[in-house]
Amino acid sequence: MIPFNKPYLTGKEAHYMYEAVYTGKLSGNGKFTKRCQQYFQETYGFGKCLLTSSCTDALEMAAILADIQPGDEVIVPSYTFVSTALAFVRQGAKIVFVDSYVDNPNLDADLIEPLITSKTKAIVPVHYAGIACDMDKIMGLANKYNLLVIEDAAQAIDSFYKGKPLGSIGHLGCFSFHETKNIISGEGGMLTINDERFERRAEIIWEKGTNRAEFFRGEVNKYGWVDVGSSFLPSEIIAAFLWAQVENIADIQAKRKAIWSQYHQLLLPLEQQKKIKLPQMPDFATNNAHMFYLVCNTADERSDLLLSLKMNNILAVFHYLSLHNSDYYRDKHDGRVLSNSDHYTDCLVRLPLFYELKSENVESICNVVVDFYK
Ligand SMILES: *Cc1c(COP(=O)(O)O)cnc(C)c1O
Repeated sequence: MIPFNKPYLTGKEAHYMYEAVYTGKLSGNGKFTKRCQQYFQETYGFGKCLLTSSCTDALEMAAILADIQPGDEVIVPSYTFVSTALAFVRQGAKIVFVDSYVDNPNLDADLIEPLITSKTKAIVPVHYAGIACDMDKIMGLANKYNLLVIEDAAQAIDSFYKGKPLGSIGHLGCFSFHETKNIISGEGGMLTINDERFERRAEIIWEKGTNRAEFFRGEVNKYGWVDVGSSFLPSEIIAAFLWAQVENIADIQAKRKAIWSQYHQLLLPLEQQKKIKLPQMPDFATNNAHMFYLVCNTADERSDLLLSLKMNNILAVFHYLSLHNSDYYRDKHDGRVLSNSDHYTDCLVRLPLFYELKSENVESICNVVVDFYK
């Protein structure tokens, strides 16, 4: 069976984890945490970076920092993972869902302005498959209406919008290092704080509502409870694992991009024959090869294709279920029909993409897809 995903180990993970254990610093915010954070700040020009235990945690921190209160409205794409909306719902927000583009699962930036009201606090663009949203339009609206932009960059490490790293453009950015992402630590994430106004409070929220980090830097002579927060920081064991991945990011990305390009080349004829749709890359966006997806014409066609791949021992999978139609939110949604989001819910297929996937595997997967459409 060719799995959908296989976590890749660079070889140094256990070594660095052992080092963390052996030196006796196991809790968070130690050497490996600082090394990772500094790397991301310096390499991508993010503002202050804080590692978290997940992207969900980073989104929850962002919702606290944005000071979301019950009744506030937050604009979120419907075609995304639960956490993008859930982090704000926990603070009492009402989620106002936006539809995707016809030819790209990202939120359609031209649909946002009519959804803005006096209660709107934030826009949360999700860079689906690591492909950038239209950030100039989104930041323009944020400036015009005094809103915050929180990038859900969970899939978007090492990807760019007009040359700017994703996660560095919004006021805050949230990354994931879950085992299904490009670089991983099992569970893991990071908050990027690109607006200095939030730096001090972010560190306090990260450390259970205390000013502990300031105390350890010698800036205050005792520390205590100063704000809300939680235990959002990962242990050094996790950060040590992540560091081994970070050191190899160039190699990992090159490999993933080669696999992605091979898929694209082999499946392009099917798109030219209008049998399937392939990812569209806007001129302003780069491809970080987080995912290779195709879009079928109907839900039945997709079920048949997934079955056909499965019978050939290939595990391909569908993706998100529109959040506006979810059991939890259906009754709270304002009733607008979001047909593009529903189309991706019904018709999108993700093909296996992981470091150790061989060129012959990509060929045999594409052969099954091509045969299916004969
Ligand atoms: C993976 C993912 C998340 C959640 O990340 P975790 O690290 O598992 O919390 C959130 N949003 C998007 C778009 C994702 O792809």
